[in-house]
Amino acid sequence: MRILVTNDDGIMAPGIKALYRAVRDLGEVEVVAPETSQSAGGHSISVLSPMMAHRVHVHSEFHAWSVDGSPADCVKLAMLKLLDWRPDFVLSGINAGVNTAINVLYSGTVAGAIEGACFGVPAMAFSLELSDHLDFDGAGSVARSLFLEFTRTRPEPGVCLNVNIPKFDKGWPRGTRVVPQAVVPMQDRYHVQHDPRGNPVYWLDGEMPEHPVDSGTDLAAIYERFVSITPLRFDLTDHKRMAEMAAVGWPQAFERIEAATR
Ligand code: MN
Repeated sequence: MRILVTNDDGIMAPGIKALYRAVRDLGEVEVVAPETSQSAGGHSISVLSPMMAHRVHVHSEFHAWSVDGSPADCVKLAMLKLLDWRPDFVLSGINAGVNTAINVLYSGTVAGAIEGACFGVPAMAFSLELSDHLDFDGAGSVARSLFLEFTRTRPEPGVCLNVNIPKFDKGWPRGTRVVPQAVVPMQDRYHVQHDPRGNPVYWLDGEMPEHPVDSGTDLAAIYERFVSITPLRFDLTDHKRMAEMAAVGWPQAFERIEAATR
């Protein structure tokens, strides 16, 4: 088994070391990760500037490629240039902080996994709930067992699972739930400060709602100390809405508008 590991917290982050340790005995493992933190960078890629990739020795423990790009850049570059083999799986994480609800869209951790899925490689993203003591070893054990389970299902090309692990402060997670992504908005706010010339600068801060509004979702699972697993797809098309639009005659309506304005 060949595994490509990436993350968005950067090559030196403790979470990627934990993920590497969790799977290193399962096959050939290559780590290709951003040089610096790319958190909340989403599915960005570098097109306006070139990138460099350096072979580095991380924590005196493993060799890896350090790339001055995003997680999606790392996976793309790994697939097209750096690896001389095609991975059977792409694993991303373990992120410091959960990627539930709307954060799925902002997450570089999830983007790394989705980029793998775009190449037709089954992928998983792992994130650990923030706490004073981030138990990445515990999260690594959870990631390992869920990954092994995933391999046993012989996933189709492009399958991508988003896994969130609750903090271990109150013990081991109570179980695992396969749940949809919550859609409740974050409670965003901007802190306003001033630069040396007195101009206001804005710094985003935000948190998830205290109690999940959406029961039976990834967010609710984490609040209830369950590991959440959400299958994701990168086709953002709202197929149900498309059918509804066709049913009420949208294409014809547009044709009429076009004809009238011609
Ligand atoms: Mn991150």
